[in-house]
Amino acid sequence: EVDWFSLASILFLLMFAPLIVYYFIMSCDQYQCSLIDPFIDLLMGNKHLSDIWNKTPTLTYKAAGIYTLWVAFQVVLYVFIPDFCHKFLPGYVGGVQEGAVTPAGIVNKYEINGLQAWIITHVLWFANAYYFHFFSPTIIFDNWIPLLWCANILGYAVSTFAMIKGYFFPTNAKDCKFTGNFFYDYMMGIEFNPRIGKWFDFKLFFNGRPGIVAWTLINLSYAAKQQELYGQVTNSMILVNVLQGIYVLDFFWNEAWYLKTIDICHDHFGWYLGWGDCVWLPYLYTLQGLYLVYHPVQLCTANATGILTLGLIGYYIFRMTNHQKDLFRRTNGNCKIWGKKPEYIECSYMSVDGTKYHSKLLTSGFWGWARHFNYTGDLMGSLAYCLACGFEHVLPYFYIVYMTILLTHRCMRDEHRCFSKYGKDWKRYTAAVPYRLIPGIF
Ligand code: NDP
Repeated sequence: EVDWFSLASILFLLMFAPLIVYYFIMSCDQYQCSLIDPFIDLLMGNKHLSDIWNKTPTLTYKAAGIYTLWVAFQVVLYVFIPDFCHKFLPGYVGGVQEGAVTPAGIVNKYEINGLQAWIITHVLWFANAYYFHFFSPTIIFDNWIPLLWCANILGYAVSTFAMIKGYFFPTNAKDCKFTGNFFYDYMMGIEFNPRIGKWFDFKLFFNGRPGIVAWTLINLSYAAKQQELYGQVTNSMILVNVLQGIYVLDFFWNEAWYLKTIDICHDHFGWYLGWGDCVWLPYLYTLQGLYLVYHPVQLCTANATGILTLGLIGYYIFRMTNHQKDLFRRTNGNCKIWGKKPEYIECSYMSVDGTKYHSKLLTSGFWGWARHFNYTGDLMGSLAYCLACGFEHVLPYFYIVYMTILLTHRCMRDEHRCFSKYGKDWKRYTAAVPYRLIPGIF
């Protein structure tokens, strides 16, 4: 059943999320990244909506060509080039891997080759930028708004296709979820793991590529634009490129592990993931770099060092917390956390068919400090990207505000699910680890 609050939020997002993205990008294009000036202009009658709209670049054949080639290239890398990285990179888990058991009891196989796709794409990018010069490395920035229209077309097309597919030819009918509410189903998805053929998995493809592979290329394009405009790349731009680059590389290095995260294990594939991965992620997660093209910030050494330290500590906490849970679950508790035997709470749950299963909830290491300390690390890293942009405008701070809402909402969503799953055992766990994100505070 869909409650009224969820429905209202869904309608709000369906109507306004594309406008929010447009507003941010337009305000950089026409108002030097000021979020307030377009409002003032409209309120004072200096401009009409039509003036702003008429100044907005339209869809071009060039952008459509670039975008089609880009997505087609990522499809080829994903579907046709089996992973070879795991053969020579020690510790890297790639190639064919299994996902978690779906509610219908299916274990999907995935070809994990995201790291390889990222490496090939970036090698080609640098080869072009420094050697072949087929196109300018500023190509993404120069076509940013026309590309936004292309990303929207793909985002809507794939979400609509996923909805139709869920009704008429689902990959696995038993894993479909119909609430009977059209908007909810469109937004949150019907199919759990829609696929075309044996290997083209919508969730894995759209979650990681084209959006996350593009993330670092977009930042590189912004850095190239700074170089073109000002003859130098500022240290803040380098910081954003490096810190976000680490986050993206971490994602691909741990792509097999991501098969066990909420996005893949619990979410169905609808507009939220389809449009979100095509539009929201590449456009809004890269706002800091875009901002720095319009406002090049050169940080003093102390500030740059402080931001780098915050970003690296945040990343360390994020990675280690995730690693501790992964190690603990993989070894069924037969491991060491911070050099000691892990402490945990034994818990049990019942599946839909009435079978009883046992599980464990870790209460030591970072998991003893707070129930979602991985999110805390993620938030510290996110704050570092924003701080690199200085304090002149609020636009670059959108990311930390958004991530705080996203991850706090995710905490609630996850805890609600865990409580339904583990019942009184979850209560024992929350009593043992009383805080969610910040020990002693929240
Ligand atoms: P988690 O990796 O924290 O997974 C939550 C699940 O872990 C729970 O549902 C439960 O599943 C299990 N669990 C909870 N507590 C414990 C415990 N104490 N011991 C053992 N298992 C436990 O969440 P996500 O999948 O949301 O996040 C993965 C990472 O991705 C995070 O670091 C997050 O920051 C990042 N992320 C980044 C986003 C971005 O846009 N940049 C978006 C979303 C996530 P079970 O049913 O198995 O018990």
